[in-house]
Order: sequence, then structure tokens, then C-alpha cells
Amino acid sequence: MRDILFAYEPYIRLAAFGGVFIVMAAWEFVVPRRTQAIGRGWRWPNNLGVVAVNTLLVRIVFPTTAVGLALLAEARSFGLFNVIALPAWVGVLASVVILDLAIYLQHVLFHAVPALWRLHRMHHADLEFDVSTGLRFHPIEILLSMLIKFAVVAALGAPALSVLIFEVLLNATSMFNHANVRIPLGLDRALRWLVVTPDMHRVHHSILARETNSNFGFNLPWWDRLFGTYRAQPAAGHEAMTIGIEQFRDSRELGLDRMLVQPFRGDPGRYPLGYREAER
Ligand SMILES: [Zn+2]
Repeated sequence: MRDILFAYEPYIRLAAFGGVFIVMAAWEFVVPRRTQAIGRGWRWPNNLGVVAVNTLLVRIVFPTTAVGLALLAEARSFGLFNVIALPAWVGVLASVVILDLAIYLQHVLFHAVPALWRLHRMHHADLEFDVSTGLRFHPIEILLSMLIKFAVVAALGAPALSVLIFEVLLNATSMFNHANVRIPLGLDRALRWLVVTPDMHRVHHSILARETNSNFGFNLPWWDRLFGTYRAQPAAGHEAMTIGIEQFRDSRELGLDRMLVQPFRGDPGRYPLGYREAER
């Protein structure tokens, strides 16, 4: 089982990524939520270019994947779930939920620390909100989140299966909850108890700082309700709201070259969580 999991890991990931991407892209095409001012022709090649850079970089920088690390921790009896005796399914389920909480907290951290916000704001600087937005993260943010994930996986002794489930799920839900798709309001309300929906996450991509600093969850919607960061709808409504941040509003900023240098340009802006209007 273990060897099979490890051997097929890249194919499982690629199949899930490709499958969900195609489904969401088709869904956006058939029932879009908003009309886009900037078309896919310019944004998608650049957003997917970031994915290519990130995939390559992670391969080069890290000697193993998070699943590989989980297998190593298991072999050496390292980490919480490799020390205490629990039914296997409990370890898998608990690990997926705890990894999701860690991602929520990490996301809040990237909105709180100005230097980290500089990295994360590249994701928010997309001027439209669709499936490709869910994939565009600055390479340095990707490297830092890999390190954080490695630390959580090692400390937890998370079962390799749970790490694979979590990573595939996160990739899939990120494409789902960034998608420009129209979901009937009643269905959206029901879904929000189980998973972060596009309408819920779109609030987080509003240009208004108080809306940007809400709905940090990616998979499970519970953390935002639990920690008081939940906001149901954007004030301006989903169709009229402005997507993006106050900086980088020119469509040239959507180019791959510009995206990569954005963290090093200008000031952090008034988005970081500790920002006070009076300090301006
Ligand atoms: Zn964010």
C-alpha cells in the first residue's frame, strides 16, 4: 500500500488537478457568476505560468514531498500519531482536519505580518476571480508554506494517506472556491456548512480591507465561524464588488514577470491586520 501510494503520487495529483481544472473551467464558461472585464487570454497563460514555476521550484528545492516526509516519520516512529496507538482512520481523519486548521492559521498569519502580506498579496492582486486565481501564489509563499506543512506533518506524525488526501483536496477546493461559477443561493447556503464556496471566498478577494480580512478558510468553512472571521456577503454584492487590492490595478501587472517582483515593490498598503488608519 505504502509503496503504491508513493509510486503513484504524481499521477494521482496530476489527474485530480487536470480533472477539477477542466470541470471548473467548463462550469465557468456555461454559468459564470460575473462578467469578466479582463479575459482569460491574457490572465490564464500568466497564472498557469506561475504554476509551472512553482512546481519546478518545489521539485528542485525540496529533497522529498510532504507524503515522503510522512512515510519517513512513520518509519522512524516520529510524531504524535506514530507514538500513540489509535485506529488508523482516526489518525487519517484527525490529520486532515488539523492540517486544514494549520492552513487557516497560516493564511491569517500571511495577512497579519506585513512582510508575509507582500508575498501573499500577489494572489490577491489578480483583477478577476476564477479557477486560475486559485493557483496563482508567489513562489516564495509556496516555499514557506511547504516548510510549514513539513513541520506540521512531522510533529503530527500524520499518516501518509492523510497528507495525500489533504494536498489533493486543498488543490481541488482551491480551484472550486475561486471559480467564477453561479451556484443557486439556497444550495450555496447549504454547502457553506461543509465546504468553502466560491461566493464565500469571493468576499476575501474584495478590494475593501475589512472584506479581504475575512473568510480565510480554504477547505472547511468552520474555522472562520469559530474564530469570528466569517463574513457572509460582500457589501457591494457579488456582481458589483471590485476584485483585487488597491495597488497593481494596471492589467500589465497580471504578467508573470510583474507578479514575481510585486512583493518587492511599493509599501505593504493598508491591508495587514494590525494596520491602523491613523498611522498612515
Ligand atoms: Zn488571502
